[in-house]
Amino acid sequence: MLSNGPFEKEFLRRIALAVESEFRYQVSTEECHLDLNPYYNPARRQYDGNKLLHHLYGCTQNKYDRLICLFRIDLYIPILTYIFGQAVLGEKTAIASIYRLRNELYGLSKDEYLLLSRAIKEVIHELGHTFGLLHCHVPSCVMRSSTYVEDIDQKSSSLCNRCRTLFEEGQK
Ligand SMILES: [Zn+2]
Ligand SMILES: [Zn+2]
Repeated sequence: MLSNGPFEKEFLRRIALAVESEFRYQVSTEECHLDLNPYYNPARRQYDGNKLLHHLYGCTQNKYDRLICLFRIDLYIPILTYIFGQAVLGEKTAIASIYRLRNELYGLSKDEYLLLSRAIKEVIHELGHTFGLLHCHVPSCVMRSSTYVEDIDQKSSSLCNRCRTLFEEGQK
Protein backbone atom coordinates (compact mmCIF):
# COMPACT_ATOMS: atom_id res chain seq x y z
CA MET A 1 0.00 0.00 0.00
CA LEU A 2 1.39 3.35 -1.00
CA SER A 3 0.32 6.57 0.65
CA ASN A 4 0.48 9.97 -0.95
CA GLY A 5 -0.10 11.79 2.29
CA PRO A 6 0.21 13.18 4.74
CA PHE A 7 -1.35 10.37 6.76
CA GLU A 8 -0.84 9.35 10.34
CA LYS A 9 1.16 6.14 10.67
CA GLU A 10 -1.45 4.58 12.95
CA PHE A 11 -4.20 5.30 10.41
CA LEU A 12 -2.26 3.46 7.69
CA ARG A 13 -1.34 0.63 10.04
CA ARG A 14 -4.99 0.03 10.89
CA ILE A 15 -5.92 -0.13 7.20
CA ALA A 16 -3.05 -2.51 6.48
CA LEU A 17 -4.15 -4.81 9.32
CA ALA A 18 -7.73 -4.86 8.07
CA VAL A 19 -6.57 -5.73 4.55
CA GLU A 20 -4.31 -8.48 5.89
CA SER A 21 -7.12 -10.09 7.82
CA GLU A 22 -9.61 -9.86 4.95
CA PHE A 23 -7.42 -11.17 2.13
CA ARG A 24 -4.73 -12.96 4.17
CA TYR A 25 -2.03 -11.15 2.25
CA GLN A 26 0.92 -9.52 3.92
CA VAL A 27 0.73 -5.77 3.45
CA SER A 28 3.67 -3.41 3.37
CA THR A 29 3.14 0.32 3.59
CA GLU A 30 5.30 2.87 1.86
CA GLU A 31 5.09 6.63 1.46
CA CYS A 32 5.28 7.98 -2.05
CA HIS A 33 5.78 11.55 -3.17
CA LEU A 34 4.18 11.65 -6.54
CA ASP A 35 3.97 15.02 -8.28
CA LEU A 36 0.22 15.41 -8.65
CA ASN A 37 0.28 18.46 -10.94
CA PRO A 38 0.07 16.47 -14.18
CA TYR A 39 -3.19 14.89 -12.96
CA TYR A 40 -4.90 18.10 -11.91
CA ASN A 41 -7.80 19.35 -13.98
CA PRO A 42 -8.14 23.08 -13.27
CA ALA A 43 -11.63 23.29 -14.80
CA ARG A 44 -12.94 20.64 -12.41
CA ARG A 45 -10.51 21.38 -9.58
CA GLN A 46 -10.09 17.64 -9.22
CA TYR A 47 -7.55 14.98 -10.10
CA ASP A 48 -7.94 12.51 -12.94
CA GLY A 49 -8.23 9.03 -11.42
CA ASN A 50 -7.73 7.19 -14.70
CA LYS A 51 -4.47 8.96 -15.46
CA LEU A 52 -3.18 8.40 -11.93
CA LEU A 53 -4.10 4.74 -12.06
CA HIS A 54 -2.44 4.36 -15.44
CA HIS A 55 0.74 6.02 -14.19
CA LEU A 56 0.91 3.83 -11.07
CA TYR A 57 0.24 0.74 -13.12
CA GLY A 58 3.11 1.62 -15.44
CA CYS A 59 5.70 2.07 -12.71
CA THR A 60 4.73 -0.67 -10.29
CA GLN A 61 3.35 -3.59 -12.23
CA ASN A 62 6.27 -5.92 -11.62
CA LYS A 63 7.11 -4.81 -8.12
CA TYR A 64 4.09 -5.98 -6.12
CA ASP A 65 1.41 -8.66 -6.15
CA ARG A 66 -1.16 -5.92 -5.70
CA LEU A 67 -0.83 -2.21 -5.14
CA ILE A 68 -3.19 0.40 -3.81
CA CYS A 69 -2.23 4.03 -3.46
CA LEU A 70 -4.11 6.08 -0.91
CA PHE A 71 -4.57 9.81 -1.50
CA ARG A 72 -6.18 12.82 0.17
CA ILE A 73 -7.17 14.53 -3.07
CA ASP A 74 -10.51 14.87 -4.85
CA LEU A 75 -10.53 12.24 -7.60
CA TYR A 76 -12.76 11.99 -10.65
CA ILE A 77 -13.12 10.05 -13.86
CA PRO A 78 -14.63 11.76 -16.91
CA ILE A 79 -18.03 10.04 -16.69
CA LEU A 80 -18.54 10.69 -12.95
CA THR A 81 -18.69 13.75 -10.70
CA TYR A 82 -16.28 12.12 -8.28
CA ILE A 83 -14.97 8.75 -7.23
CA PHE A 84 -13.91 7.30 -3.87
CA GLY A 85 -11.48 5.01 -5.63
CA GLN A 86 -10.79 3.20 -8.85
CA ALA A 87 -9.39 -0.11 -10.02
CA VAL A 88 -9.33 -2.02 -13.26
CA LEU A 89 -10.95 -5.41 -12.87
CA GLY A 90 -8.33 -8.10 -12.44
CA GLU A 91 -5.40 -5.68 -12.83
CA LYS A 92 -2.92 -5.26 -10.02
CA THR A 93 -3.28 -1.59 -9.27
CA ALA A 94 -5.89 0.52 -7.51
CA ILE A 95 -6.28 3.97 -6.02
CA ALA A 96 -8.48 5.38 -3.27
CA SER A 97 -8.87 8.74 -1.60
CA ILE A 98 -10.14 9.80 1.79
CA TYR A 99 -11.09 13.23 0.46
CA ARG A 100 -14.81 12.48 0.21
CA LEU A 101 -14.82 10.14 3.18
CA ARG A 102 -14.37 12.96 5.69
CA ASN A 103 -17.42 14.12 7.61
CA GLU A 104 -16.17 17.73 7.44
CA LEU A 105 -16.85 17.78 3.70
CA TYR A 106 -20.55 17.32 4.44
CA GLY A 107 -20.73 19.93 7.18
CA LEU A 108 -20.59 17.33 9.96
CA SER A 109 -18.13 17.17 12.79
CA LYS A 110 -14.84 15.41 12.34
CA ASP A 111 -14.93 11.72 13.22
CA GLU A 112 -11.61 9.92 12.99
CA TYR A 113 -13.10 6.53 13.80
CA LEU A 114 -15.72 6.81 11.06
CA LEU A 115 -13.10 8.04 8.61
CA LEU A 116 -10.90 5.02 9.35
CA SER A 117 -13.79 2.62 8.96
CA ARG A 118 -14.76 4.17 5.61
CA ALA A 119 -11.17 4.13 4.40
CA ILE A 120 -10.81 0.44 5.32
CA LYS A 121 -13.95 -0.45 3.37
CA GLU A 122 -12.90 1.60 0.37
CA VAL A 123 -9.41 0.09 0.24
CA ILE A 124 -10.74 -3.47 0.62
CA HIS A 125 -13.38 -2.78 -2.04
CA GLU A 126 -10.86 -1.56 -4.61
CA LEU A 127 -8.46 -4.39 -3.84
CA GLY A 128 -11.41 -6.77 -4.28
CA HIS A 129 -11.68 -5.51 -7.87
CA THR A 130 -7.97 -6.21 -8.41
CA PHE A 131 -8.72 -9.80 -7.36
CA GLY A 132 -11.39 -9.93 -10.06
CA LEU A 133 -14.44 -9.39 -7.85
CA LEU A 134 -17.38 -7.54 -9.37
CA HIS A 135 -19.97 -5.42 -7.58
CA CYS A 136 -22.20 -7.46 -5.29
CA HIS A 137 -25.82 -6.91 -4.31
CA VAL A 138 -25.60 -8.28 -0.79
CA PRO A 139 -26.25 -5.18 1.37
CA SER A 140 -23.54 -5.91 3.93
CA CYS A 141 -20.89 -7.00 1.43
CA VAL A 142 -17.87 -4.75 1.03
CA MET A 143 -18.10 -5.29 -2.76
CA ARG A 144 -21.45 -3.54 -2.89
CA SER A 145 -21.02 -0.35 -4.92
CA SER A 146 -21.19 2.97 -3.10
CA THR A 147 -22.25 6.23 -4.68
CA TYR A 148 -22.57 8.22 -1.48
CA VAL A 149 -20.61 8.07 1.70
CA GLU A 150 -23.78 6.87 3.48
CA ASP A 151 -23.67 3.79 1.25
CA ILE A 152 -20.23 2.99 2.61
CA ASP A 153 -21.54 3.30 6.17
CA GLN A 154 -24.29 0.78 5.45
CA LYS A 155 -22.00 -2.04 4.42
CA SER A 156 -19.41 -3.99 6.40
CA SER A 157 -15.70 -4.23 5.68
CA SER A 158 -15.95 -7.92 4.77
CA LEU A 159 -16.69 -10.01 1.72
CA CYS A 160 -19.98 -11.91 1.77
CA ASN A 161 -19.80 -15.72 1.53
CA ARG A 162 -20.23 -15.73 -2.22
CA CYS A 163 -17.53 -13.10 -2.83
CA ARG A 164 -15.21 -14.88 -0.40
CA THR A 165 -15.64 -18.14 -2.31
CA LEU A 166 -14.95 -16.35 -5.61
CA PHE A 167 -11.87 -14.71 -4.09
CA GLU A 168 -10.58 -18.02 -2.75
CA GLU A 169 -11.17 -19.78 -6.05
CA GLY A 170 -9.23 -17.02 -7.77
CA GLN A 171 -6.26 -17.68 -5.47
CA LYS A 172 -5.81 -21.27 -6.62
ZN1 LIG B 1 -16.36 -0.84 -7.13
ZN1 LIG C 1 -20.48 -10.03 -1.98
